[in-house]
Amino acid sequence: MIAGAAIGVDLGGTNCRAALVASAGRIGGVLRMPTRMADGYNALLANLAGLCGQLLDDSLTRGLRVSAVVMGAPGIITQDGRVLVSPNLSELNGKALATDLGNQLNLPTRVINDANAIGWGEALFGAGRNFSSFLTVTLGTGVGGALVLDRRIWTGADGAAGEIGHLTVTPDGRPCGCGSRGCLEQYASASGIVLGVRERLATGQKSLLAEVDGADLTSFKVAEAARRGDSLALAVFEEAGRALGLALAGVANLLNLDGVVVTGGASESFDLMLPMVKEEIRQRAFEVPGKRLRIVRGELGDDAGILGAAGMALQ
Ligand SMILES: [Zn+2]
Repeated sequence: MIAGAAIGVDLGGTNCRAALVASAGRIGGVLRMPTRMADGYNALLANLAGLCGQLLDDSLTRGLRVSAVVMGAPGIITQDGRVLVSPNLSELNGKALATDLGNQLNLPTRVINDANAIGWGEALFGAGRNFSSFLTVTLGTGVGGALVLDRRIWTGADGAAGEIGHLTVTPDGRPCGCGSRGCLEQYASASGIVLGVRERLATGQKSLLAEVDGADLTSFKVAEAARRGDSLALAVFEEAGRALGLALAGVANLLNLDGVVVTGGASESFDLMLPMVKEEIRQRAFEVPGKRLRIVRGELGDDAGILGAAGMALQ
């Protein structure tokens, strides 16, 4: 019997990952390759085509018919899969990525924003499956976001919606890579947490982290110190939680969502932020949407983007 499947691809700044996905979830393992953007756009297309080719071979042995390839990529992506602007992979700016990859594969090919792929993965297969409308917040090097409204991804007029990480939480706060200042990302991301520690250490505050070598200072080290009761580390997570809670209180009032799904590498230490997140929502949001908003952890980890991308084709 020939059953339907799609190939989901997650294009990141460092690595690219892909897998076969059917309506019940992922089939087989995840293939990986380094992105190596320095080799140029054509080399990237050839490598992506090679990766998808391996999965197409695999689909034949499994008796699956692949209907499409959908790739999540960082940046603002148009409906027809052109990259308007990609801050982390600027070599892709202006490229018709979906058309160019589709020409190599001879299969319908779509490209969507990577954060939206993660949000859609959680919507179909993960922590968002029982929510009608929710926000996914990805805590990593930066803070990403994806908005699902009435079981549809809300991309906005230009594909730029969902950027919770660049909501202002401190009007005159730390400068942000986006050109603004005081963005949520500068406080609640892994790099924001490290910045918070550096700022405090520079004022001479005592901490277990004072002995950690500059380059070794990661958000995981900060979380470790916080769990050992280090007051500086605890204060940094409190600051991160307050920033996230402030942003989410506004989101609750604006959209009255069912929930928030928190995911990403730095979400491992989300429990250290959660009390302040809840406190800010309690203090700032209207009671009804504030109480409605369930805050849960993502369930799919690194698979979310691949599953969500492929899921776009399987609907
Ligand atoms: Zn920003």
